[in-house]
Amino acid sequence: KGAAADDYDESSFISKMQAKNRNIVVFYGSQTGTAEDFATRLSKEALRYGLRAMSCDPEECDMKELAHLADIPNSLAIFCLATYGEGDPTDNLQEFFTMLKDCDRNELDLTGVNYCVFGLGNKTYEHYNAIGQLVDKKLEELGAKRIYELGLGDDDANIEEDFNNWKEGMWPAACQQLGVSAEAQDIKYRQYQLVNHEPGSVPPEKLYKGEISRLGSLQRQRPPFDAKNPYLAAVTENRELHTGGDRSCLHLELDIGDSRIRYESGDHVAVYPVNRSELVDKLGELLQCDLDQPFSLNNVDDDSTKKHPFPCPTTYRIAFLHYLDITANPKTNLLNELSDYTDNEEHKQMLKKMGSNTEEGKALYHDWIISARRHIVAVLEDLDSVKPPPDHLCELLPRLQARYYSIASSPKLHPKSVHVCAAVVRYTTSTNRLVLGVATGEFADKPAQLPVYVRRSQFRLPYKHQTPVIMVGPGTGFAPFRGFLQEREWAKDQGKPVGKTILYTGCRNRDIDYIYSQELEAWKDKGVITNLQVAFSRDQGEKVYVQHLMRRDENSREIWEVLELGGHFYVCGDAKHMARDVMAALEEIVEKHGSKSRQEAQDYIKKLSNKGRYSADVWS
Ligand code: FAD
Repeated sequence: KGAAADDYDESSFISKMQAKNRNIVVFYGSQTGTAEDFATRLSKEALRYGLRAMSCDPEECDMKELAHLADIPNSLAIFCLATYGEGDPTDNLQEFFTMLKDCDRNELDLTGVNYCVFGLGNKTYEHYNAIGQLVDKKLEELGAKRIYELGLGDDDANIEEDFNNWKEGMWPAACQQLGVSAEAQDIKYRQYQLVNHEPGSVPPEKLYKGEISRLGSLQRQRPPFDAKNPYLAAVTENRELHTGGDRSCLHLELDIGDSRIRYESGDHVAVYPVNRSELVDKLGELLQCDLDQPFSLNNVDDDSTKKHPFPCPTTYRIAFLHYLDITANPKTNLLNELSDYTDNEEHKQMLKKMGSNTEEGKALYHDWIISARRHIVAVLEDLDSVKPPPDHLCELLPRLQARYYSIASSPKLHPKSVHVCAAVVRYTTSTNRLVLGVATGEFADKPAQLPVYVRRSQFRLPYKHQTPVIMVGPGTGFAPFRGFLQEREWAKDQGKPVGKTILYTGCRNRDIDYIYSQELEAWKDKGVITNLQVAFSRDQGEKVYVQHLMRRDENSREIWEVLELGGHFYVCGDAKHMARDVMAALEEIVEKHGSKSRQEAQDYIKKLSNKGRYSADVWS
């Protein structure tokens, strides 16, 4: 069916593919933009094999049409799917995932559909790449043909490398399936075209100044507030929680009084951070660019739903401050592209090598970029002959993401504010550069306002106050439990019966970083916390952590009893070490007191989790 080029229904990706003469569709399930970026790169790369692809957001497509892909000769669906949180699909994949999960071949027969999946996950999390795996399996069950093995990217190691390795094998397999030569042409192409606006030609009110979506939304605030329309919350409190030492942890209170934003204890608040202006100035200098030049980047592919990489028109200064991640480790494809912008052979070869998929290149990338934590500014400083046009750099850099924080207050006590407890990221790299976390560095500068929105979570207190709870949250992992404890205190003050409330928390030294110690001791005195266990890891010869306290005889017995009484278990904080160690301790406790094998203990905890009685709120 040769539909006219512009005559198609936007939600019908099949008619769009037919109208635009595409035979590959790349779907992405993306939360932070990486999966979307990979999808875009794959659809651009298809051109190198003479194939025509388009990337699509499944949320904007009628995904039931997938079966009709078989009607397009030599077609292929590629999926780049991130696993999020506790093994969940990303927001934009939710609908498709729910549909796919529950349907059988009678409802969706994918016979004749070619596909392959690249999953994006993080090995520190329990449900590593669960979504990629599930979708890959389900598509096959529904009759689709897997043309290349499932790729598993690990964000804890080097996801870029995993992706490169995967696509290196995927393309030849795809070419073979689609009947084209696997000989790639070495063409580079731009996805966006630069339009420079004459100074004064765009009135200031028409230039984006950090808005996420609607022009002027930060100046003229209108509810409802969400990820695309954040609320500018006044920071009414910003104080240091540590009483000494050189690390910093801040308590912030954000005023949401006029916003109509509602939250529950256990929800997250997302903050849109701003890059440091000194770093942006430095970047402007290195690029020899006028940061206040107004410009737009317009997608050269008119058919793409994404017209610009970030809100345009804007200025370079705004793009670097608000829209682009200039402090992450540059990806290998960016380094590869940078190699075009130098005449210095040594610099060129170095960039090319790091951008290549060779063992030598990977090792150099690991040393020079990852271990040395060089961001784009450091790369351009250290390879000072490299002068990319600023607009091309803007196209290549990933979007700056919102940072999430577990809300450290209860709406019962604080309906008009959300509290945040944030550990300030601050370290010196091996090349002697001081790095401050984008968001927490900004918090340390005492901003007057922050653009925020609330994201609902599954991390909830039990419905009945009487249900006993065990909470494990060392360091900033204590944050959501502060909300939980405020809520339990509120219930107690109302004369309601409140069940056992057990808290395991921890820090390094009682005198330095025992955060919220006065509140905790007061809750203990009042009986709001029935068992307070604090691990001071460095106050004695050997290190003591929360999992050691859990294992102590009396404590472990109590944990088992509470679980058997229908109690809820919560863990919050560092995903990498703590959450694993706590899980291991819990398994041991169930094994010991429940007289179970390790496997039975794991099944027991799995059941708790399925019933919503074991919840984790962890991050890496
Ligand atoms: P960034 O600029 O993003 O820098 C952080 C990165 O720097 C790290 O990922 C790491 O790669 C690197 N880095 C950090 N330290 C070093 C070092 N010493 N050496 C080398 N590299 C290093 N954080 C809290 O403080 N409190 C919370 O309640 C909280 N809740 C969260 C809830 C969720 C659901 C999630 C996903 C995260 C949560 N976080 C919380 C983490 C928070 O979102 C941010 O990641 C954190 O504050 C750092 O952000 P940043 O912009 O300041 O740092």
